[in-house]
Amino acid sequence: MKCAVCKHGETKPGTTSVTLERRGATLVFREVPALICDNCGEIYHDEAVVTQLMQRAEEAVRAGVEIDVRRYAVA
Ligand SMILES: [Zn+2]
Repeated sequence: MKCAVCKHGETKPGTTSVTLERRGATLVFREVPALICDNCGEIYHDEAVVTQLMQRAEEAVRAGVEIDVRRYAVA
């Protein structure tokens, strides 16, 4: 798709790292599927991916995790 930010680039499938901060906890998810603009580097995530990340972040916070780096893998 066309990039909505720079309006010039095309987005390409790839993976990226996402850092989430929740109530003092820092969670880094690696290899998260994304669409990345080949011009400006803007990153787009699927709504389903975002939902997954939010859920996992919540679970980790509830489990008392303060800092964690994990790999995102499609369940
Ligand atoms: Zn762009």
